[in-house]
Amino acid sequence: MASTKEREVPRALRQYIWNLRTLPKVKQFLWRAAVEALPVGVELVRRGFQVDFGCKICGIRETITHVLRVCQFTREVWTLALLKAHPHLNSVLCLDFLAFIPSLMSLPPTGISATSLPIWICWNLWITRNHRLFADTAYTAREVISEALGEARAWKEAQSSLQKPQASQATTTLPPPAISVICNVDATWHAESEAWALREALFSAIDVGFDEMQVRSDSQVLINLINSQETHTEIYAIVNDLRQLVLSFSLISSHYVPRLNNVEADTLAKNALRALKYQVN
Ligand SMILES: [Zn+2]
Repeated sequence: MASTKEREVPRALRQYIWNLRTLPKVKQFLWRAAVEALPVGVELVRRGFQVDFGCKICGIRETITHVLRVCQFTREVWTLALLKAHPHLNSVLCLDFLAFIPSLMSLPPTGISATSLPIWICWNLWITRNHRLFADTAYTAREVISEALGEARAWKEAQSSLQKPQASQATTTLPPPAISVICNVDATWHAESEAWALREALFSAIDVGFDEMQVRSDSQVLINLINSQETHTEIYAIVNDLRQLVLSFSLISSHYVPRLNNVEADTLAKNALRALKYQVN
C-alpha cells in the first residue's frame, strides 16, 4: 500500500522519475527524495534519533531540499553548471524542486542529452554528501559537475554500445574499491529504528561504491532476523529490504557484538548520526 508521502507525489512527477533513462539506483534515489525517505538530518530526528540535524557544511537543518537545492555548496554547484535556466532559489518543498528539473537544460556542447545533466548533478550532490559524512572526503563544486558530466557521458556511451552490438566488443569491468567497511550499529533505540538505520547505512554504502561490508550490532534480535528466513515480524518490510540490500555486496557478514564490546557504536549513539559509522581500513 502506498504511503501518504507516495500518494502526494503528482502523477506527472511520478511518471517522469520512473520513465527516466538512467541507472535504476538514480531513479530510486529521486523517488526516495520525492517521498522524503532519505536519511537526512531532519528525517533522522523525525524518526526519533537524538542527532544533530544540521548540514555538515553550513549547520542549517538538513532536509533533502537543502542537500539538492538550498545549501550554499549546492547553490555554487548549480551556478557553475552550464544550464539554460537555474532552479529557483526559494524552493521549499522537494516536490517543487524535482518538478522543476525537467525544464532544466544543459547548454551545448556537453556530449549528452540536454536534460540528463541536472539528474546526474542531483545524484552527485547526494553522493558527495555521503562521502563527506561517512568517508570525511570533501569535493569542490567543479568536481561535482565534472563527475556528473563524466557519468552522464559514460551512461550515454553504454547505451549506444548496447544498441549497436559488435562481434569484438571490448568490455571493461572496473574493479571494486579495495576497501573493507565495518558498520557498527548500536541498539540504543528499539529494533525498528536500528533496522532502519542499518538499511540507510547499506543504501549509503552502495551509493558510495563500497563492495564489502561487515555489520556489527549489539542487537542479537536484529542479527538473527537478517540471517533467518523469518517472515512473521513487525519489521518484516525493513528486514526484507535488508536481505535484498545485502545481495548488492560481494562480501558481507553480520556479527553480534555484546554492548560492552561495541563501545564505539555505543559512543556514537550519543553523537550526530550515531547509528551509522564507517571505518575505512
Ligand atoms: Zn548546508
